[in-house]
Amino acid sequence: MTGGEFIPFNRPEIGEEEIREVVEVLRSGWLTTGERTKRFEADLCAYTGARYGQAVNSCTAGLHLALAALDIGPGDEVITTPLTFCATVNVILHQGATPVLADIGEDFNISPQAIAERITPRTRAIIPVHFAGLPCRMNEIWDIAGRKGIAVVEDAAHAIGTHYQGTHIGDAERSLSDAVAYSFYATKNLTTGEGGMVTTNREDLYQRMRRLTLHGISKDAYNRYSESGSWYYEVVEPGFKYNLSDLQSAVGIAQLKKLEGMTARRKHLADLYNQLLGNREDLLLPPDSEMARHCWHLYVMRLNLDALSISRDEFIQELKAQGIGTSVHFIPVPMHPFFAPWASREENRCPKAMKLFQQIISLPLYPGMTEDQIRRVAVSVKEIADRHRKSEAMASVLSRKVEEEQPCTNG
Ligand SMILES: *Cc1c(COP(=O)(O)O)cnc(C)c1O
Repeated sequence: MTGGEFIPFNRPEIGEEEIREVVEVLRSGWLTTGERTKRFEADLCAYTGARYGQAVNSCTAGLHLALAALDIGPGDEVITTPLTFCATVNVILHQGATPVLADIGEDFNISPQAIAERITPRTRAIIPVHFAGLPCRMNEIWDIAGRKGIAVVEDAAHAIGTHYQGTHIGDAERSLSDAVAYSFYATKNLTTGEGGMVTTNREDLYQRMRRLTLHGISKDAYNRYSESGSWYYEVVEPGFKYNLSDLQSAVGIAQLKKLEGMTARRKHLADLYNQLLGNREDLLLPPDSEMARHCWHLYVMRLNLDALSISRDEFIQELKAQGIGTSVHFIPVPMHPFFAPWASREENRCPKAMKLFQQIISLPLYPGMTEDQIRRVAVSVKEIADRHRKSEAMASVLSRKVEEEQPCTNG
């Protein structure tokens, strides 16, 4: 079942609205951070229910700002998940702090129980990542953190549009987190090409993050070229250069207006994948939860390697040969050479994430995909799996072996 055009793993949903907004900015004479960015911040706060929003040029910058504003530094430990992009760990290292890994649970998210086991007197913050757009078990994480006075900074790179128990993550009415960082990178659910936003419900943290966004310049940093502004400014601490331009914010404003529709489309297509790939022993569907609104940033399928005689890497090669682009989220943190020396220590061991890595494939999923394209991907996936089924005899030997091993795990 080959043929047809190549289906890329991802394609941003950019229309005339975004183009019009950007052209307007180009004609306006004001390109960098200004009125558009202020409006984007206000729009995103209205959408998420967060009290304050600071636009930044990436989610990485947002995470870094939050840790810096919380004064996390040398001697401090920050707990995060092994199943994340390297940015989550790098920002901890940039602050001179020590990352600590806590393994994932059945939902592929950081396990609250694993977090509890990794807490030490030096733990200062937890960075949960809402993997694929499914929220972490925040009540349990807030409970663990609150009892010990530990900060919570959510890596919401996948999670614009994600609801946890009825409200958007970061909502001031419900959230007990200190900060939430979103990504507007080219492949994310809402994109500005490159960009991000960090929200908080704490005024002190907001003021500090705002100042650190632009070199640690106090007051009026954004106004100093406007009619009402002044040329005078003061640097009060060494900050960063993390501001978002009005060109990018213009794209964000247009994207945010379409986000609910794009999220509904993602859910519809994910449901279709579930329907087409479900009820098979050799393929496992992605986790979901009734307590949440998954925003379906990623559709991460899992191979049951006990039933298949093909590796994940070979499976990806075969999909590629059939004109289907895929990806893997993520190469676990301990597998990167730079992280390996500390990440593979006993106190950072994450066997569940390491095992899951062998099984996962992220299938194409974006609002512009047609149902026919989803069907074509599903047909290819099933055809490859069928062709590489372990023989019945082999499978039964394996299952007997598993049964024999069972009694050893004393109950
Ligand atoms: C994309 C991503 C980031 C980084 O986002 P940028 O906006 O590119 O800095 C961080 N964490 C996770 C989990 C991501 O997927």
